[in-house]
Amino acid sequence: MNFSVRNHRLHLDDQPVPYRASPNRTPGFVLKPEGIVVHDTAGRLNGDSSVRWLCNPEARASAHLVVYRDGKVVQLVPFNAKAWHAGKSSLQGRPGVNNFSIGIEIVNPGKLKPQGNGRYRAWFGKVYSQDNYPIVEMTTPEHGTGGWMDYTEEQLTTVEAICVCLFAKYSLSWLWPHWKVKPTKEDTNPLFPLRHLQAKVMGREGEGGSEGVMLANTNQRRWPSYQDNIIQVIPKGTVVEVLRSGWYVNGDEHAQWFLVSHDGHEGWVHGTLIEVT
Ligand SMILES: [Zn+2]
Repeated sequence: MNFSVRNHRLHLDDQPVPYRASPNRTPGFVLKPEGIVVHDTAGRLNGDSSVRWLCNPEARASAHLVVYRDGKVVQLVPFNAKAWHAGKSSLQGRPGVNNFSIGIEIVNPGKLKPQGNGRYRAWFGKVYSQDNYPIVEMTTPEHGTGGWMDYTEEQLTTVEAICVCLFAKYSLSWLWPHWKVKPTKEDTNPLFPLRHLQAKVMGREGEGGSEGVMLANTNQRRWPSYQDNIIQVIPKGTVVEVLRSGWYVNGDEHAQWFLVSHDGHEGWVHGTLIEVT
C-alpha cells in the first residue's frame, strides 16, 4: 500500500483517494498539523453513511479522512485545513486540538449495549451478534463498560500506512485517540492497537508500561476472549511489555486480561497466565 500526499490530498499508488468535500471546516484557517487524532465513526458499518453525515452541515463535525471496514479511504478535508473532529479538547494543557491535528475516522459502531445471547445494540438501534462479528464486552478506565467491535485487518493496515505517510510528510510528533484529548469520549475502542501504531510511527514513547512474565505457554489473542482469534503463542518465561489491563465479562465470568506486546504484536492474554511486575 503506497500512500503519498500531494497538494494536501492523500494519494494511493499515485491516484488521489476519493474526495467528498465537507463544509464542516474553518474557512481561511491554515492548518499546520503536529499530530493525529484517531476516532471511531460510531455509526453503521457502511462507511458511506458516515461520510454523508460528516458532509452534512447539520453534523457540525468532520474529519480529514474516513477509513471503511474494507480499507477504502475517503478524504473530506485537505490536510492544510482545519476539520472539526476533536470538539472541545486539549492535549497537555493546550486547548483546541483541531487547531494542530489531523483527524482520522475509522468505521466502527462505537460502544454497544449487551442484549443477552451474544447480541449487542448500537446507539442507533442496529443489533450485532457475536456469531457474525468480533465483539467483546469489557471495561477499561478510559472506555468504561460496554461491548466493543474489533477493527478489520484491512482498516488497521490502511490506518498504519496512512499514519506512517503523514508522519513523514508533515514531521508529526504524536498520535492519540479521541479519548486522550477529550476524556468524555470513548473512541477509539479498547481493541484498537494503539501502542503498536504509536511504536510504528513514533517509536516507543508515551506512558511508561510495566512488564510481565508468562507463567505458561500462552495464546496471545486479538481480543480478550476464547473465540478464534489467536495471534501467536508466547512461550512460558517470556518477559513481555504490559500495555493495559481490562475486565472481560461473559455471563457470570469476570476475568482480568492484559494487553501485552511481544515480537511486534499487540494482543491480549488471560490474567491467570501472566505475573505482572
Ligand atoms: Zn471521536
